[in-house]
Amino acid sequence: MSEAGGGWFRKLRAGLRKTREHLVGGLEEALRRRGRVDDETLEEMEEVLLGADLGVAATQAALDELRRRLSSGGEGKAEEALAHLRAILREMLQPPAREAGSAPPAPLEPPPGEPRAGEPRVVLIVGVNGVGKTTTAAKLAARYQAEGQRALLACADTYRAAAAEQLEVWWRRVGCEFVRGTGGGDPSAVVYDAIASARAKGCAVVLADTAGRLHTRRNLMEELRKVARVAGAQVRGAPHEVLLVLDATTGQNALAQARLFREAVGVTGLVLTKLDGTAKGGVAVGVVRELGLPLRYVGVGEGLEDLEEFDAEEFVEALFSREGESTP
Ligand code: GDP
Repeated sequence: MSEAGGGWFRKLRAGLRKTREHLVGGLEEALRRRGRVDDETLEEMEEVLLGADLGVAATQAALDELRRRLSSGGEGKAEEALAHLRAILREMLQPPAREAGSAPPAPLEPPPGEPRAGEPRVVLIVGVNGVGKTTTAAKLAARYQAEGQRALLACADTYRAAAAEQLEVWWRRVGCEFVRGTGGGDPSAVVYDAIASARAKGCAVVLADTAGRLHTRRNLMEELRKVARVAGAQVRGAPHEVLLVLDATTGQNALAQARLFREAVGVTGLVLTKLDGTAKGGVAVGVVRELGLPLRYVGVGEGLEDLEEFDAEEFVEALFSREGESTP
């Protein structure tokens, strides 16, 4: 929530500026022009929602719900419509409650359970190259460290030497522990060593940054499954989180990637990066709705402090709020 002195909220609002200008600005314009909600207004609203990259299904669902609320509430006034839409988007962004027998479970859900006392929590960071995995791993490490919990960053991307070098720079900056493998080595061996090292050093969490080259997709997915298995054999319930990182600027492509990963490894939550600098922030609504996975964190910049736990209410508030608008 936004009680943390407003610093993060201001940052989030600044990060969502382009999406807000497009989405809320566009909706307001469509509504103002006609002063009420009729078919033509709804069509214009549809275009705006699609333009903000909610995706076809989420856009339809939002507008269907808007029609339903307007028809049960009498005349569709412009202001009323915007308030309804705000509530609808907030609801769509809430983590989905899994009903028995509803969405099919991912084939390889991480086994339930928490680590035993004194054992590290294991978090796998997955996603395609360039989406912001390494940066997110470092930002998360910094968050844990700030809370007084020792973190260990593990570079399980053994393909790109640059990946380990990049993580090493972050590691020094964050001041946490660090484990890297040898070039071309087995990523699950890196995770094995990382967990052993975290145990020995009393770390609370292992954050494993994984490879993301999609052109050899099959091997990558097999490799990720192996990493998960190895972690699970070492620590009860591991991996405790599998965070799929998605780049908001890629809009609907993020969704296609997410489906791939969700099917191959038991993704437990999403991280949406680069919300700053894109007008496609509406993709947040699309991914949550389409994937049935909770959005856990959002990234709005390249700095260590530019990651925050996602909160649907705060997100929509930041999206619609123009109060104190300032150019970042
Ligand atoms: P990886 O290949 O998935 O590990 O991606 P990186 O962590 O190397 O990030 C790729 C680029 O995206 C880097 O230049 C990061 O600084 C940048 N980046 C990551 N997260 C964010 C974010 O939330 N906002 C912005 N503007 N840039 C980001």
